[in-house]
Amino acid sequence: MLDRGFIINNLYNFLITTIMNRKNFSTSDGVVEMLILGDPNSEEKVLIMAGKHGDEPEGVYIIKNFLIPYLEENEFFNKCFVIFPNLNPNKVNACLDKLVKKEIKKYEMLREFRFTESGVNLNADYPTVYREEDDAFLQATQTSIVIDAVNGYGCGLILDFHTNGPSYMSLYKYDEKIGKALAEEMGKITKTASRDYVHHKNKGKILSGTSGTYFGRERKIPIITIELGRAKPQYDFFRHCERLWKRHKPGLDYLFASFPDPDDDDIQDGCGENGVSAS
Ligand SMILES: [Zn+2]
Repeated sequence: MLDRGFIINNLYNFLITTIMNRKNFSTSDGVVEMLILGDPNSEEKVLIMAGKHGDEPEGVYIIKNFLIPYLEENEFFNKCFVIFPNLNPNKVNACLDKLVKKEIKKYEMLREFRFTESGVNLNADYPTVYREEDDAFLQATQTSIVIDAVNGYGCGLILDFHTNGPSYMSLYKYDEKIGKALAEEMGKITKTASRDYVHHKNKGKILSGTSGTYFGRERKIPIITIELGRAKPQYDFFRHCERLWKRHKPGLDYLFASFPDPDDDDIQDGCGENGVSAS
């Protein structure tokens, strides 16, 4: 009998080969795919990414198995979606394998998969104006690929999938005022809390090197981070992801339907000099 992972993987491969707009990038962490869905001439371009942290494979699985098929079928096709389903493929896939085989008793055991093979934290690798001393940026090819895609396609909205490390609860994060209204409205629809990155557990500290600080705070591009709720180790990973998708889909419907207006005051006035808040 064919196992579920085999069927899903083949379904995904079949789907992907039907999409012409796809590009592969070789990195030291495996092949990173980029897909373009929708109308490439649309003014409204959304960048979607997942898998920066290898110990957070839920977003990768959801994008490949639910979000891409959904976007292919629905009416959002007056928009264009630039999608990186898996930015840290070797580590995400190794982590997913452990989860599916239920070899994980505690989530701390997944930490070894978090960074790239060369030890880069892909969410601390963006060349932010705001930086701590000794910060090294752009160590990974993946970071340049994402920045080039946002600039090259002119993406006006970014969605970044993560998994909530310390909690089983999902959470929407935004950076400063950028994306706040969108995250709050999504949160009302899906009954999910939303928070400013800076004020969440960071005691008002701006985060150096994150894509939130880089795109949101400094470049004023609304970026929403979806922190998906963790599954307890004894849960079935696939069923957990299916539940997460059902829960967050109405929020994503709202987000895609209400693409942010670039003339919005929150987007224009969110930041101080050089785009960096003085707070
Ligand atoms: Zn993460």
